[in-house]
Amino acid sequence: MKVDRRGFLKTLSMLGAAVPVTMKQGSGTASEAATRQTNADGEKPTDRTAGPRIKSIETFTRGPVGIVRVCTEDGAEGYGQIAPFNADISATVLHRQIAPSFLGRNPDDLDVLVDQCIEANYKFPWSYVCRALAGVDTAIWDLRGKREGKSVCELLGGKRRAIPAYGSSMRRDIKPAEEAERLVRLRDAKGFRAFKIRIGKVCGHDHDEWPGRTEELVPTVRKAIGNDVSLLVDGNSCYTPRKAIEVGKLLEDNAVCHFEEPCPYWELEWTAEVAAALNVPVAGGEQDNDLAQWRRMILMHAVDIVQPDLCYVGGITRALRVAAMAAEAGLPCVPHSANLSLVTVFTLHMLAAIPNAGPHVEFSIEPTSWTSDMYQPALEVRDGTVAVPQGPGWGVTVNPAWLAAAERQVSE
Ligand SMILES: [Mg+2]
Repeated sequence: MKVDRRGFLKTLSMLGAAVPVTMKQGSGTASEAATRQTNADGEKPTDRTAGPRIKSIETFTRGPVGIVRVCTEDGAEGYGQIAPFNADISATVLHRQIAPSFLGRNPDDLDVLVDQCIEANYKFPWSYVCRALAGVDTAIWDLRGKREGKSVCELLGGKRRAIPAYGSSMRRDIKPAEEAERLVRLRDAKGFRAFKIRIGKVCGHDHDEWPGRTEELVPTVRKAIGNDVSLLVDGNSCYTPRKAIEVGKLLEDNAVCHFEEPCPYWELEWTAEVAAALNVPVAGGEQDNDLAQWRRMILMHAVDIVQPDLCYVGGITRALRVAAMAAEAGLPCVPHSANLSLVTVFTLHMLAAIPNAGPHVEFSIEPTSWTSDMYQPALEVRDGTVAVPQGPGWGVTVNPAWLAAAERQVSE
C-alpha cells in the first residue's frame, strides 16, 4: 500500500507542480476540473436542459441526524442524509442557504448545481454548507437511481457486491485488555479481518487518555487478534510531528497498516513530515471539505491514504472528485464512515465503483440508538464483509415511522 513518495515528488517537480494527468476533454488538469467552479462561461446549464425540475426539498431531523427528501415536478423522489451531528443547524442552513440553488433546477445538472451552491455561499465556506449540501446531493443520487432502475453503485459503473469491513472502535475510555477481548469476540463472531483502535487523546497535545495507554493498547490488541488480522489506529489530531514519529515506530513494530490523523488535521506540513518519516501509511482527511485543500494535501503528499467523509465533504459528487484526485496520485481512498447512519450506505456504493478503493470500509462496532431504526435492511457484517445494498438508488428504505417522529421542514 505504501506508495513511492520520491517518485511522486520527482514527477511533480518535473511538471512544475501541475498534476501529471491530462484531461480527456477541454483544457487543464483533471485536478483543476475537480476543484474549479464549472460555470465559468456565466451561463446556467440548467437553462439549456429539458426534464422535470426540483419541486420540493424536505428535511426530517431527529436527534443528531437528518434525512432529506427531494421531489421533482413529475412526482419522482429520492432520499439522502445531512451529515450527522447538529443536524438541526444543518437543516436550517439547508432551507435558507442551500435549497435556493436547487429548487426549480434540473437534477441531471447536479455537478454544476453543487458548484453553484458553493459559490452562492462563498461567504460561509465549508462546514455547515457542505453538511447540508450532502443531504440534497445524496437525495438527488437516490432519485436518479430510482428513475433509471439502477443502484447508485451501478450509476457509477460499479459492479462489486460486497466490501470487506474493518471493525472501528470509537472508544478511548476502554482498558487495553477489554478492547482486545471485544475485538477477538467480533473477529470470531463476524469474521472481521481488520480493526481500528484509538490511540492518544483527541486534539491531545501529545497527551494520552491516561499515561501509558497507547503503549499498552497497541501490543495487547496485536497479540490478541493475531498477525493475520489488519490493525489500524486513529490519533484524532493528537500529536506533534516529533511525538507522532515516536509513536509511529511503536506502530511499525506492531505491524499497524494505517496511522490516521496523527497530527492536528489542519497542520498539513506536520502530517506530511510524519508521512515522510514513517513506513506505516498515514491516513487522513475526514474533516476536510474544501476541494482546494484536498488538492494541496494530495500534491504535497501529506497522506498516503485519503479519507473523505461523504457527508462532511458535501455529498457523493464532491467525494468522487476527491477520490479522482487521489487516483491520479496513485493513492487509495478509504472514506470516513464512523457510524451506521446512511453515510455507510453511501460509502459502500462509492467504494464498489471507484478504481482506487482501499481494501475495506469503515464499520462502527459501537451500538448507536439513533441509527438503529432509520432504514432497512440494516447493514450487517458476515464473513468480514458487508453487502452493497441492492435495488434502485441507495437500495435501502427509510423507515416511515422514523420520518413520522422527526421534525419536518419543507422548501418549495
Ligand atoms: Mg478518524
